[in-house]
Amino acid sequence: MAMCIWHACADRCGKFASGGKGTQKNGKGEEAMAKNLLAQVDKAGGEFELVEREIPSPGPGEVRIRVKACGICFSDHLVKDGGWPGLMYPRVPGHEVVGVIDEAGAGVTEWKKGDRVGVGWHGGHDFVCPSCRRGDFVTCANEAITGITRDGGYAQYMLARHEAVALLPDGLDGAEAGPLMCAGITTFNALRNSGARAGDLVGVLGIGGLGHLGIQYAAKSGYRVVESGEGRRTRRWRRSLVRSRTSTARLRSRRKSCRSWEERR
Ligand SMILES: [Zn+2]
Ligand SMILES: [Zn+2]
Repeated sequence: MAMCIWHACADRCGKFASGGKGTQKNGKGEEAMAKNLLAQVDKAGGEFELVEREIPSPGPGEVRIRVKACGICFSDHLVKDGGWPGLMYPRVPGHEVVGVIDEAGAGVTEWKKGDRVGVGWHGGHDFVCPSCRRGDFVTCANEAITGITRDGGYAQYMLARHEAVALLPDGLDGAEAGPLMCAGITTFNALRNSGARAGDLVGVLGIGGLGHLGIQYAAKSGYRVVESGEGRRTRRWRRSLVRSRTSTARLRSRRKSCRSWEERR
């Protein structure tokens, strides 16, 4: 398929019409090497800048992902503002990535070109440190972090460690699935490891990037949900999140900002 390398817009802008992978023709019919357009920060406190680099080749144990969508997380400011110790620049942020496997590096057996995948904060582990030997990969002594210790998804193409990639179902919209790779898994794991069981009362403090997902996970899992938040945006979100449910109780708090909904089943 013809592909514009600037916007990945499948040639609709007419800027580039393609040949095979690696070379593409621009509007004047001249051949140009395909590039990877990305947004990087080149120093702590620096601005985002759009830069072209060579499309990277996956090394052993890596896959190359053609990025379809990448969520914006508050933690991305750690790159922009230099908030992560030892962070090396330039760095491409983005750890809520959805895309398609484009190429698998040596030794990768579980992924193939065309697989639809996501990558989150956890960017890889060494399998051999004490944490990994207990199966606690996210506290690996040599953990890689997507968009922090290695370049992330604010790009057309990115490399990811094969063990950090998750398979995505076809029916999940890319832009909606992106935030599930960070905010989603954070709230989902908090719920499933909380010890609470369906029917128990669960409190979600704040309806922000994580809270609005926590409410939905909790409600869908059969918990009774209490959320606490205030402000116009919170009220608007609250209405949309509980649209399909029925408000059966209202708890009064001193700040009058705490309400409870119980899903009728
Ligand atoms: Zn995040
Ligand atoms: Zn480890």
